[in-house]
Amino acid sequence: MNAPRYRFAPSPTGFFHVGGARTALFNWALARQSGGTFVLRIEDTDEARNRPEWTQGIIDSLAWIGISADDPHFEGPLFQSEFFDAHLDAARRLHESGHAYYCEMTPDEIQARAAAEGTTGYGGWSRDLGLGPGAGRVLRFRVPAGTTVVHDLVRGEVEFDNATIEDFVLVRGNGTPVFILANVVDDMSMRITHVVRAEEHLPNTPKQQMIWEALGEQPPIWAHVPVLVNEQRKKLSKRRDKVALEQYREEGYLADAMVNYLMTLGWSPGDTEIQPWSAMEPVFRLEDVNKSPAFFDLKKLAAFNGDYIRMLSADELAAACEPWLPAEWDRAPFRQMVPYIQERLKTLAEAPAAVDFLYVHDPAVDQESWDKAFAPDYALALLRDVIGAYETCTWDHGTLKAAMEDLMTRYDVKLGKASAATRVAVTGRSVGPPLFEALEVLGRDESLRRMRDAVTRAES
Ligand code: GLU
Repeated sequence: MNAPRYRFAPSPTGFFHVGGARTALFNWALARQSGGTFVLRIEDTDEARNRPEWTQGIIDSLAWIGISADDPHFEGPLFQSEFFDAHLDAARRLHESGHAYYCEMTPDEIQARAAAEGTTGYGGWSRDLGLGPGAGRVLRFRVPAGTTVVHDLVRGEVEFDNATIEDFVLVRGNGTPVFILANVVDDMSMRITHVVRAEEHLPNTPKQQMIWEALGEQPPIWAHVPVLVNEQRKKLSKRRDKVALEQYREEGYLADAMVNYLMTLGWSPGDTEIQPWSAMEPVFRLEDVNKSPAFFDLKKLAAFNGDYIRMLSADELAAACEPWLPAEWDRAPFRQMVPYIQERLKTLAEAPAAVDFLYVHDPAVDQESWDKAFAPDYALALLRDVIGAYETCTWDHGTLKAAMEDLMTRYDVKLGKASAATRVAVTGRSVGPPLFEALEVLGRDESLRRMRDAVTRAES
């Protein structure tokens, strides 16, 4: 048997959808594990909605998730608009063989006739008129009687009663082929063996299978992967949900985390869900993909991302954060802080806010944190004592902590309470990176200056 040929066929009409990314990854795993091919076909025939930057967005997004145009398994991008003649040629053949016929009824006429007959939709009324092509005439497929059975690797055998499928349009009155036809003809001429795509295309599939058969070809193997839904179990939508892969990238999700998470939507990589691509690629099987909708869980995605962030070395994480760091920041203190912020980061974009106290002369003070830290009657005296201890002790986080613990015993409070005023004095906030490590990186002079300023402010 020849090596399988998969394809991913997005329409460049907007940002790259996370659902599209998941479909692409499934196809990519299948193509690579079988020594086959992944064809990228840009379905750019909707001229009103296409934009070249969306096409570039698709290519860039695919590359980001590891689907690289340089890989030997990758073919394309091919552009649907370049195969216009082939689409029309197939339409002509379907007409010549009697599988399609011209119809000149307008939508209004169809509606009126259906209403008069007490039905809905188009009733095949022009089937036997023998019309030839002409301006304003659409070409319709002559849907045969009987049933159409779609063998789907995810959904099993799906049976469609042909009586529920009207004689659908193949070519519009203005002479342009519709999606259903163009999509089949391209799959055919690109010798696609497996069509793995989103569930929303399942209703098109019996129609497309009929076209394959009418053109005398063996239909591909079909697989419709489950739709992605949000927390309310509603299909992810551009309006309601954050669906653009680009956006996740901008917010500092790691590509590896995103890839891993997307692969778990409708499929399980085994006992543990956190798995590198190299472990998932060889074992992914369509037969194991779930039929039910897959919940795109933002919290789980963030948790995956946090796990992947923690798997990086400090140097790798520092490098990964680069695009989010202001150009003027000295990288040395940032690099020192990385191990201390790594534990809590959910996204790379959170990194600057976790360390910005290092880079501002006077960090903005959160008033609520300030009030709380200085409310206890011991707070000011304790802070003065911390300053005293910190003026002379060795400047490393272990010693700084020990000195604070010593004072906490004297004041009979817990460590968190004892260090609250120091924290707000130095960072402006009540929560943040580990305090003693932060002090160590900030340095003695600057830490003490901020603490003394806080004393002055608290006294006034
Ligand atoms: N261009 C179609 C879409 O983006 C692809 C349909 C298919 O994969 O067959 O929905």
